[in-house]
Amino acid sequence: MPSTLHKIPVAISSCLLGQPVRFDGGHKYDRFINARLTDFLEFRPFCPEVAIGLGIPRAPIRLMKTAAGIRVLGVRDPTLDVTQRLEEYGREVAAQLAGVCGYIFKARSPSCGMERVKTYHANGLPARSDGVGVYAQAIMQTHPDLPVEEEGRLNDPGLRDNFIERVFTRWRWQQLQQQGITPARLVDFHARHKLAVMAHNQAAYRRLGQLVAGAGRKGFRGLCERYEQELMQAMQRQATRKSHSNVLQHLQGYFSKQLTAPERAELGALIDDYRLGLAPLAAPLTLIRHHFLHHPNDWALSQTYLEPYPRELMNH
Ligand code: SF4
Repeated sequence: MPSTLHKIPVAISSCLLGQPVRFDGGHKYDRFINARLTDFLEFRPFCPEVAIGLGIPRAPIRLMKTAAGIRVLGVRDPTLDVTQRLEEYGREVAAQLAGVCGYIFKARSPSCGMERVKTYHANGLPARSDGVGVYAQAIMQTHPDLPVEEEGRLNDPGLRDNFIERVFTRWRWQQLQQQGITPARLVDFHARHKLAVMAHNQAAYRRLGQLVAGAGRKGFRGLCERYEQELMQAMQRQATRKSHSNVLQHLQGYFSKQLTAPERAELGALIDDYRLGLAPLAAPLTLIRHHFLHHPNDWALSQTYLEPYPRELMNH
């Protein structure tokens, strides 16, 4: 796990850190990001609108549906078209994100919004909220496997968990790359992530297993690239209560015979409570970790699933 000395690099919309870069000179300081995530993540802030020279304060811009497609135009002066400059800056920043493990975008911005950004008809009337910020789009097109989220969506426990887990998974992959990936190290990495992948995507779990089985053959570099791509895509799918419950039951199998009947019943009930939405995932996971202390199993204890990211980030 990273320490506060070695934080994971994550890009972010500058205004979310409290930087006064918005069109009106304000900011959008986000408490969770600044009070919790900052202990483990090293933020690399980008404000595309300032970077392309629009200044602070500046005239507001918005996404307009025009005959030439979606354009980013001035609200008061529709002859101001910054679409191309934002796209170009997005590609410029994308080229600097090689070691970055995620990106947190400001929601609803015509530049930074990741999805559902308000759009307008050419006559100025609101159209559907189905736009994507032009800068964010350039980043996401260049790095389709980069974990991305918006600050508002991080208030949803499932989406937050999914994002943080993907950031830490990418970070572990980058650590492996820095060490130098060998077939043996890839096999070990895959072994440690098996249950995590299983919780997200059973089909990808099988495909990744097949890929790793060919690790000793020619074309290892290409195989690693495919593995990374498949892994990150697999983790994008949110794990469900059902898939988590299956993994929890699987883990229970490693020590079930050594438990007393009341202990087995207690854990079974907790997994059922979780599956029915009556308890958080941390409840059965904590008990499982406790049982592994008394009945250790090397393979199970090596699973990132048991602690996909620091517990401090789980308890909020
Ligand atoms: S949403 Fe993006 S462009 Fe707008 S102020 Fe924040 S960082 Fe700058």
